[in-house]
Amino acid sequence: MGSLAACDNPAVTHHSFPAFGTNVRIEILDRDPGRTAAAVRDIESHFHTAEREWYAFGSGELARVNARLAKGQPATVSATLAPLITRAIELHARSGGLFDPGVCALVRLWQFDSETAVATANRPPPDAEILALRARQGNFADLRFDGHTLSASRPLCIDLGGMAKGTALERARRILDQFGIRNALIDIGGSSQLAIGQKGKRAWFIGLRDPRGNRVLSRLALAAGEAASTSGDYERGYTRDGRRYHHILDPRTGAPTTGSASVTVLAGDAELADAASTALMVAGPARFHEVSAALGISAALLVAPTGELLTTPEMAIRLGRDNNGRNP
Ligand code: ADP
Ligand code: MG
Repeated sequence: MGSLAACDNPAVTHHSFPAFGTNVRIEILDRDPGRTAAAVRDIESHFHTAEREWYAFGSGELARVNARLAKGQPATVSATLAPLITRAIELHARSGGLFDPGVCALVRLWQFDSETAVATANRPPPDAEILALRARQGNFADLRFDGHTLSASRPLCIDLGGMAKGTALERARRILDQFGIRNALIDIGGSSQLAIGQKGKRAWFIGLRDPRGNRVLSRLALAAGEAASTSGDYERGYTRDGRRYHHILDPRTGAPTTGSASVTVLAGDAELADAASTALMVAGPARFHEVSAALGISAALLVAPTGELLTTPEMAIRLGRDNNGRNP
């Protein structure tokens, strides 16, 4: 972790730590190195709690909830996890079921539940196994939640992996606010970012990765308080017999999505941005505009597998503005 001696002119300090299976980078512009260090420590500690407690397949709270739901038993949920479940139910409905934490058991069947599982995966599951699993499982829409207790009439498993980094970023926003830090950029693995304030006189910028290469496709300035989320088919996955299988599943087919190479969403709320980028991967070009509108997203970019770009009108304007008029 970087630090600077106290000085009157604030300088940007850089901090990083591993979490969520990737590298978290934080840039902070603040006069007080003491509170900067304390805020980073708090964020790191919270991210480690989040990755443990909100992980569907480990030994944290969500895994314990899943163990009960798998046996058809009701599960009580802590006051910390409850708002995530409520939000997930809302976003599932608003996305027309494309953001679906109920893909949980399928994620495990496809061996996308951990980096270790992906590394040892050698083939996609046979269609018959996917069908059998879907027949056994309850739907996320059948989940009942009164704010404390979850129950489902058929066995179910909940995977919040498509949303939890956004939730963690919203928590980081509150932590920075409590420390009085007004200017910072938090970046989880280059795919989930939150901008607080500005980088001095300029906005915080992020780079959008070309899903089919290692270059930066274009740059985007984040407004103060704005979040970005990118989902892509190049993340966690494997290639067998020339076909790519990756970790975002289409709940309608039980198989990895095919319509999008990557999707980037900007929103005032990091949790919404995260869930929306996952939902739009499933939506694909055909339903890009409809699902963006349904989720209240005004700035989104979809890169199709062909390399074709789809943008909402606001995203088109911002990409042009932030890249000297050169659209990607
Ligand atoms: P990343 O985790 O790479 O940032 P996403 O935010 O798009 O990417 O989340 C992908 C994760 O969400 C998957 O690893 C899986 O756990 C879960 N997931 C997969 N498909 C869906 C889906 N259709 N709806 C909700 N969550 C999903
Ligand atoms: Mg997501």
